[in-house]
Amino acid sequence: MACGGRLATVREEGRLRLRCRRCGWTFYNNPVPAVLGIAERGGRVLLARRAAPPYAGTWDLPGGFLEAGETPERALARELREELGVRALAPRFIGFFTDSYGAGGMPVLAAVYRVRLAGEPSAMSDVSEVRWFPRRRLPLRGIAFPAMRRALRAYGRGAARLP
Ligand SMILES: [Zn+2]
Repeated sequence: MACGGRLATVREEGRLRLRCRRCGWTFYNNPVPAVLGIAERGGRVLLARRAAPPYAGTWDLPGGFLEAGETPERALARELREELGVRALAPRFIGFFTDSYGAGGMPVLAAVYRVRLAGEPSAMSDVSEVRWFPRRRLPLRGIAFPAMRRALRAYGRGAARLP
């Protein structure tokens, strides 16, 4: 890639990868880490409507991608402050899922935390609306990311850990 050579698909360790024919550089397609928060209050879960592509208008868990040097907990606190205008308290890790993001299908590794919110969340940044849904009646059809939909289905049924 860096040398401008053409890429070829190769099979290695049971996976298909792209490799430069000239210099041997390999595209491993490593996932990007993300962090998501499940905030629950009185049996209701907070979802955020996406204001921007991909999947603008669908429901989503608040959160986002880690930045360099951040721990997941720091990233979660930053994202919830940016998107909801609230502080995230007592984050508790409950599981991972993998998904893909955007038109290119960028692989994502999402770490999910249960979290308490200090204050009333409001829609900010790339969120157009926030709403509390009963845990057992989450709008699963309105959630665009397949693995997030599965994770929230399990969570809505009472799973304490994901997946
Ligand atoms: Zn190359």
